[in-house]
Amino acid sequence: MALALAAAIRRGERTCLAVAEEAVRRARTSKLNAFARVDATATNRKLPDGPLRGVPVAVKDSICIKDETPTAGSRAVGSWKAREDAFAVARLREAGANVIGSTNCDEFGMGSTGETCQRGFTRHPLDLRRAPGGSSSGSAAAVASSIVPLALGSDTGGSIRLPAAWCGVVGVKPTYGRVSRRGLLAYCSSTDCVGVFARSVEDAAFALGLIAGHDDGDATSSQECVPDYLSMLSIPTNDRVASINVEVDDDIESVVAGASNALKADQCDALSPQFLRDCAAAYHVLAAAEAHSNLARYHVNHENPPFGAEVTRRVALGKRLLGERHAEGLYERAVDVRAQARARLDDVLSSVDVLMLPVAPTAAPKLNAPSVITKEARGSLARDLRDDLPRDYANDFLTAFASLAGLPALSVPFGRTSGGLPVGVQVVGKAFDEAAVLRTARRLELIRDDALSSPARRVLLSEDD
Ligand code: GLN
Repeated sequence: MALALAAAIRRGERTCLAVAEEAVRRARTSKLNAFARVDATATNRKLPDGPLRGVPVAVKDSICIKDETPTAGSRAVGSWKAREDAFAVARLREAGANVIGSTNCDEFGMGSTGETCQRGFTRHPLDLRRAPGGSSSGSAAAVASSIVPLALGSDTGGSIRLPAAWCGVVGVKPTYGRVSRRGLLAYCSSTDCVGVFARSVEDAAFALGLIAGHDDGDATSSQECVPDYLSMLSIPTNDRVASINVEVDDDIESVVAGASNALKADQCDALSPQFLRDCAAAYHVLAAAEAHSNLARYHVNHENPPFGAEVTRRVALGKRLLGERHAEGLYERAVDVRAQARARLDDVLSSVDVLMLPVAPTAAPKLNAPSVITKEARGSLARDLRDDLPRDYANDFLTAFASLAGLPALSVPFGRTSGGLPVGVQVVGKAFDEAAVLRTARRLELIRDDALSSPARRVLLSEDD
């Protein structure tokens, strides 16, 4: 893992060169299609002396790396090269991290499975026929398959939490504005967040601490000071936890119920499945409208930009929402839903510290799984949008509300389905209280690891194997 590897390098047990060579070789030879590019120069770089010196990291291909083209999984970006590193990439490099390449993602972040990537889909590390989750598919797969211990992703409506849950790694979406968006190709600017993937909560907390903080180059980045997340993990906690009940697959329900019991969580009745669905529908209205304006820049060079089907559909929807469908007031309704969601969540989070719920209704599905819209498209906004919702809309309905309200949220692996697929638990907190979210995740991680090392559990595991 990242901090342990950095310590081994500092002690002279591993060399930066050997670590880089191994990561580059594994990124190149992996069957997962997690990487869009692997940087050959990673093996002969002089790395600054910092706390992550020599630790290989991967970066979602919608986040700029100096002198590279961030394709965002799209042919539409062309051959333009970034003049500088994104803010978060620069912070990791200053700490001595070694950026070994860019990872595949759904085109411009639009998708939940990785399948809209124009460079082909990424595969799930435990089952090549399954989707790793998206849109930050390659970053999650690269961390889960131990090619790198840390990766950057972006989460607009769930794109870090979902692949983290499906691949069995920790994935953190910070509060909106906590991490600068400078150097992130925009999808839905009002909810886009840069965050991290790691194999432990400690690594994730440490990496988040490095990339968080104000940036003069991003007017929406916050001035709030950044606490030492890592040392806050060990503070004894009285954090009050409430769990939101939703209908999900039995395997998912039992893992999340186990987490909820272990933390003695209260039940939160103020946030109904209907509320979550309205938030997801509102998110898709706002995301399509903002995508339409953000992606207009790619029309400059192409009369018909070579977007894939999903992006084309969403940009066209955004155009209609701001144009001919404007009369139906869908955009205004979505703005209202966002305001109400913020107020409702502020209220709920005034009496508890964190909320807990599943990340998605199922574990990693087979690639090319059939549409799951119909079952989930209830609620008035979703009904009016029915034909315009993405095929995998159901995978957004447990994550979009936190994005809409700009709240910090993460997924921590807590169990497995009967078929052995990872199941993540989602923890959502108050704005700028990443510490409570991380602390809760750390408690869950300790409970999980304790259970794994108990004799009864060891027998179960060897039987599973
Ligand atoms: N699945 C959601 C969407 O397609 C969220 C994606 C994201 O967070 N980038 O918009």
